[in-house]
Amino acid sequence: MALSGLDIYKLLPKTNCRECGFPTCLAFAMQLAKKAVALNKCPYVSLDAKAALEEASLAPIRLVTIGVDKKIELGNETVMFRHEEKFHHPSAIGIIIEDSLSDKEIDEKINKINRLKFERVGQELEVNLVAIKQNLDKKRFVEVVKKLADKTKLEFVLISSDISSQREALALIANRRPLIHPQGKDNMQDFAKLAKEFKVPLVVCASSLEETSNITKDLKKDGLEDLILDTSDKPLSRKIWDLTQIRRLALKKKERSLGYPTLAIVNERDPYTEVIKAADYISKYASIVLLHAAEPWQILSLLTLRQNIYSDPQKPLQIEPKIYPVGLANEKSPVLVTTNFSLSYYTVLGEVEASKIPSYIMSVDTEGMSVLTAWAAEKFTADKISSSMESFGIKDLVSHKRLIIPGYVAVMSGDLEEKSGWQVIVGPKEASGIPSFLKNLK
Ligand code: SF4
Repeated sequence: MALSGLDIYKLLPKTNCRECGFPTCLAFAMQLAKKAVALNKCPYVSLDAKAALEEASLAPIRLVTIGVDKKIELGNETVMFRHEEKFHHPSAIGIIIEDSLSDKEIDEKINKINRLKFERVGQELEVNLVAIKQNLDKKRFVEVVKKLADKTKLEFVLISSDISSQREALALIANRRPLIHPQGKDNMQDFAKLAKEFKVPLVVCASSLEETSNITKDLKKDGLEDLILDTSDKPLSRKIWDLTQIRRLALKKKERSLGYPTLAIVNERDPYTEVIKAADYISKYASIVLLHAAEPWQILSLLTLRQNIYSDPQKPLQIEPKIYPVGLANEKSPVLVTTNFSLSYYTVLGEVEASKIPSYIMSVDTEGMSVLTAWAAEKFTADKISSSMESFGIKDLVSHKRLIIPGYVAVMSGDLEEKSGWQVIVGPKEASGIPSFLKNLK
């Protein structure tokens, strides 16, 4: 939690000597709180004060990275609830592949995982991790790690309680900075040495928060801080309680020993319940969720949920305001106008595409607001639309002068006709009405 200027002032010498370039220690403290100046500008800060200020400037939940090519950043969260600010680093979603599957099954599963890419409201959505879980001997585990390393660019989690198997697997893929999961707390110190040796992040396994806290304190003393917390497999409600308490204690009580990203594994074979549990963990603070599910219907629903939770609530998803041709739009094509809120645009786009009638969609800059909100906020007005038509040069694209507006803002049609000089046609209120509307348009 960041310190206020007054908190910082209490730690300064209070001599007002001006050597930092500020007239008083308080003025310097205020600038320090805003991160507008460096602490070393004051030559008289005591070592204790320096340590306290540096500790206070650390993020309450450590930022941990996994992987290299498709590097995943986790942690660094600052709030309990999304509306307070925003969540910073989306939960990583990983799919478990067990080494007891046959080679054919592994090939099929990894091919399926590699194809789990979707586009939604202009963003690419995909899973982040492949978690290789050891069920058989070292030889098989290492063989599967090697096989998958050649078959996917996704980042890895290595799940094995056998230190020797982990060591051989790391010898192959440590340069991809996988996460190692020891599946239990028994060999924690040995795993810590391994993580240090290969410079990879480590999952701390423990069954309670107290135990977790004790382990991370010991590991921190040994200089190991790239940690992820897993409070083991337990019923859903207890696991969510753990995840929530870890977040709360790290943010509200500044409990540094719990200030790390978290991990939850879904051990549930019913395909529907598995997705529901994974969704619960994404919603309630798991930084990594691992599951067996790999069907598109399962993963798309989780990716959609994650996208919604991790978008900035104060900054709607927006597209560039401009004219978008749909299909082979030509000079006779209809022109529809909407806002630059991603969801509005992509909903209209989907329906225009479904109509199979080449068209132009003009997206007006409403700062990412939807049609009715923008209209109520006076961001989607006759003036704004007509000036956008002018600046986008719509008259150079079509030979007619007819503009289709959303049904919900029919009230502006007279004003817009006057301001733009175009005939305004009131379209349907709901985007779902667009295909039949366009087909019946004369
Ligand atoms: S140099 Fe340090 S002691 Fe002097 S005024 Fe600045 S903050 Fe205060």
